[in-house]
Amino acid sequence: MSQNLWHNKASMALTLRPIKQNRVQAELEHQRLTSLINSMADAVITVDEKAKVVIYNGAALNLLDINTIRLSSPLASLFKPIDSNNQPADIADIVLQTMLPTTSRDLRLKYADGSMINLYLSIAPVHLSYGETGQKGFVLLLRDITREKSLEEERDEFISVVSHELRTPIAISEGNISNAQFIAEKSGDINAIKQALAEAHNQVLFLADMINDLSTLSRAERGTLEVAVEAINVHNLCQELLSNYTPEATAKNLQLKLELDPKLELLYSSKLYVREILQNFITNSIKYTQKGHVVIGAKSVAKGVEFSLTDTGIGISKSDQERVFDKFFRSEDFRTHQTTGTGLGLYVTMKLTRLIHADIKLQSELNKGSTFTIFIPNLQAAEA
Ligand code: ADP
Repeated sequence: MSQNLWHNKASMALTLRPIKQNRVQAELEHQRLTSLINSMADAVITVDEKAKVVIYNGAALNLLDINTIRLSSPLASLFKPIDSNNQPADIADIVLQTMLPTTSRDLRLKYADGSMINLYLSIAPVHLSYGETGQKGFVLLLRDITREKSLEEERDEFISVVSHELRTPIAISEGNISNAQFIAEKSGDINAIKQALAEAHNQVLFLADMINDLSTLSRAERGTLEVAVEAINVHNLCQELLSNYTPEATAKNLQLKLELDPKLELLYSSKLYVREILQNFITNSIKYTQKGHVVIGAKSVAKGVEFSLTDTGIGISKSDQERVFDKFFRSEDFRTHQTTGTGLGLYVTMKLTRLIHADIKLQSELNKGSTFTIFIPNLQAAEA
């Protein structure tokens, strides 16, 4: 009997050891898995066949903005996403109906404070343990894609606006060129041919302007790395601009003048961008002024130089003043439409000013004129 007992104890010890070993092994596996998913930047939640939480990581708490998740709690109690039709979506239903790994970028998540984020959600059906009878479940991976979504939307809108803006001048030049061909074949009226070609030429020049603005824009949007800081002699730069733009101003009977602070010092910034910014303002001042003058001013101020562009032009209404730096904005004022323009100039200018940490102020009165004041700070090479 005692021998038997001993035998039984011994055999029990033998069978208990693998169970204990298995448990330790399983515990180790679990810890490994937990530290692995905790090291992931994306939110991970694993649920069982009833959509109840089995495992989750820290990023999931951050994304859902909660302090803890009780294991076995129903997934639907953790978050209620909103679908693309602005309707609440049943997340448990979505998960349980998933047969193959799927991803979605259309759901949104609303927080208690009313703010919303766009969600990337990937659902993959998995076996949570091995074997034929092994428990089945789903792994959910969630990510905040609000920024990507808004960039995507902005890019789509930009492409559609650009293609719309390009279509009109192309259609007008195409129409005028085929008109010129038609006249050449039929009547050969040289004046009519010249007129049609002149209009087509104007439209091609407009397209060239637009492409220039777009390429400056893409340079400006590529980032800050390309800002090459150099010492700019502001006096010389303004003199150069004066002589470059005097013919254009004179052709419109406008007086282009300089008002320079005699104490101007060297400015440390990107000569390329400073010049481009000033050129945009000068072009506009000349373009939107029918009589009077345009003054390019520059004075030394603390930590930089303040440039100004004053004109006696058509002026900008209060409501337009808030929009002149918007993409493709052109005032409804009929006098604006007597000139050609892409509505990109000031938008590009604003991008460039950000690159060199400059600041723009606008003062304007309708029918009296406008003053754009541009503060350009001295930059250290490293700041740029
Ligand atoms: P555009 O190619 O039309 O000139 P901009 O982006 O340079 O585009 O300017 C946007 C709009 O701001 C112009 O269409 C015009 O309505 C207004 N604007 C800009 N500068 C002036 C100015 N100096 N005087 C009056 N209106 C101006």
